[in-house]
Amino acid sequence: MFKADCHIHTEFSFDGHQTAQEAVRVAEKVGLTEITITEHCECNDNAALPPGEEPWTDLDVAAYTKTFEKLRETTPVKINIGIELGQAAQGPEYAKKMVSAYKWDFILGSLHNVRNEYDFCYIDYKNNDIKKLFTEYFEQLYETVMLGGFSSLTHLYYPVRYIYRAGLTVDLSAFDEQIHAILELCAKKDIGLEINTSTLDDKFADFVPGLKYAEMFRALGGKIITVGSDAHRSQRVGLGISEAYEMIKRAGFSEIATFENRIPVFHKI
Ligand SMILES: [Zn+2]
Ligand SMILES: [Zn+2]
Repeated sequence: MFKADCHIHTEFSFDGHQTAQEAVRVAEKVGLTEITITEHCECNDNAALPPGEEPWTDLDVAAYTKTFEKLRETTPVKINIGIELGQAAQGPEYAKKMVSAYKWDFILGSLHNVRNEYDFCYIDYKNNDIKKLFTEYFEQLYETVMLGGFSSLTHLYYPVRYIYRAGLTVDLSAFDEQIHAILELCAKKDIGLEINTSTLDDKFADFVPGLKYAEMFRALGGKIITVGSDAHRSQRVGLGISEAYEMIKRAGFSEIATFENRIPVFHKI
């Protein structure tokens, strides 16, 4: 049965904890048909790092792409080579440069921090106005989708990962209007929606986004759904993909998409 993980980080991402070879071997072992590697390209030049943190290194495009081009010859798993473009609206020139730095198969769009704030993984949620942070997050995510230049929108409500880990909760329905506008814009611009499985076995215990927003995307005319584990280490490659396909079917979709040369290829699920 077809199974693709379209969001994987390896040693070429500053926070990746697996080698390229390990990612491919695990993909074979867990029965993935296809993988898409999506190394980080943060467009805001370390602006979201607290003082004292080790600076994030820029993606070495040549080393990255050459390694995976070679690995294609060693495995029956189809390998697509992509990037995760973070905060493109906070560094549009750099974003443009990275988008055209290689013939990418796939580009994920993401937002890991709002302007003048740390990355959401560094925020002290107990001493912060979560409602305000989320409102700004969705405003700037809308701006990111407006700017475009990517194939699929990843982790629609990214901050929940860290808010729940901090022992707090959030009622996302308070932001339904903003989420609706973002999903509507994605559908209109033929940008995909990623179902991110990384929080399924975490405190949040659901996909990002879950069933309600997958259904909303479909009702708004969205057609392109991609699925990714957001694995940063080999044990997590392929996790939750089958479960995500079940949820996607419940939301009324019969196909998911992978990307080749930035063109969607649809697969029945
Ligand atoms: Zn991300
Ligand atoms: Zn990622």
